[in-house]
Amino acid sequence: MKPEIHPTYEAVTATCSCGAVIETRSTLCKPLSLDVCSLCHPFYTGKQKVLDTGGRVQKFADRFGMFGAKK
Ligand SMILES: [Zn+2]
Repeated sequence: MKPEIHPTYEAVTATCSCGAVIETRSTLCKPLSLDVCSLCHPFYTGKQKVLDTGGRVQKFADRFGMFGAKK
């Protein structure tokens, strides 16, 4: 590599909000904090993370559940 033109590329630690710590390398040269990583992202865990937050789906069903239902 040509000297003096490249940014420093150092090992950094990325800490996820789930607690996972990932060792990586970056030109940022300081610890990273992530919101989501491959260990906690729903795509990889196969689990639905945010489902019916605050009972909103249930509220909707309570209000509009009668539509389409024969009485
Ligand atoms: Zn994570």
